Amino acid sequence: MFDIGANLTSNHFSDDLDSVIGESLEAGVKKICITSSNLQDVRNAKKITEKYENLYYSVGFHPHNAKDFKVEFLKDMSVHLNDPKAICLGEMGLDFNRNFSSKEEQILCFESQLSLAKSISKPLFLHQRDAHEEFLSVLDNHKFNQKLIVHCFTGNLSELEDYLKRDFYIGITGWVCDLKRGEELRECINHIPQDKLLIETDSPYLSPRKKIRRNEPKFLIDVAEKVASLRQEEKESIINSSYENSLDFFNLRR
Ligand SMILES: [Zn+2]
Repeated sequence: MFDIGANLTSNHFSDDLDSVIGESLEAGVKKICITSSNLQDVRNAKKITEKYENLYYSVGFHPHNAKDFKVEFLKDMSVHLNDPKAICLGEMGLDFNRNFSSKEEQILCFESQLSLAKSISKPLFLHQRDAHEEFLSVLDNHKFNQKLIVHCFTGNLSELEDYLKRDFYIGITGWVCDLKRGEELRECINHIPQDKLLIETDSPYLSPRKKIRRNEPKFLIDVAEKVASLRQEEKESIINSSYENSLDFFNLRR
């Protein structure tokens, strides 16, 4: 399996990160992309990936942190993106659910990173929550040639269709296992083409296990199992296809 999004720089892992990574490898998670949400995260993530051959990281500024974003950071970000272990640009996007940064700050931060996207070829890792219309209108105003994923998709069928029409990839988390909140998402699972579906934990958030609060990459299997059962497929088929899709998405075939 490939956990395409895990926040391993989070302080939830500061005491036992090595064992968390070790256990996830044992549980069949062969590769992990550590998501970053500001420049400090990028530096921390880079350090972690230096110790592990199969760990990679993203370079981006999360909409929650947009209030701290400065356009001059783009230079630093583009330097980081030269590292072969930095496999995508993100997280970036819009989150009007909690509005930790104002809408204006979020849009500026998102637009700036999309302009950086034009000069690189690495794929884009996007975050959207309660901002579907604005998110699409920003994206539709920009031209870029690389692949794009809407990570932690939690929307409805019509939102899904908007993304699939644009050829975006879709990232599915443990949200799909959430009895209360996952209802709409479960209805979408059958409508995602096999070659566009990727899986992720978004650790330490969104634990698929009710009794365990801190999510870890080793629980990615729960997401694979849930997706497989909703699609009435073999677990192995989802594990294999999502892994292959991830290699394609991140350009990791050699
Ligand atoms: Zn996110």
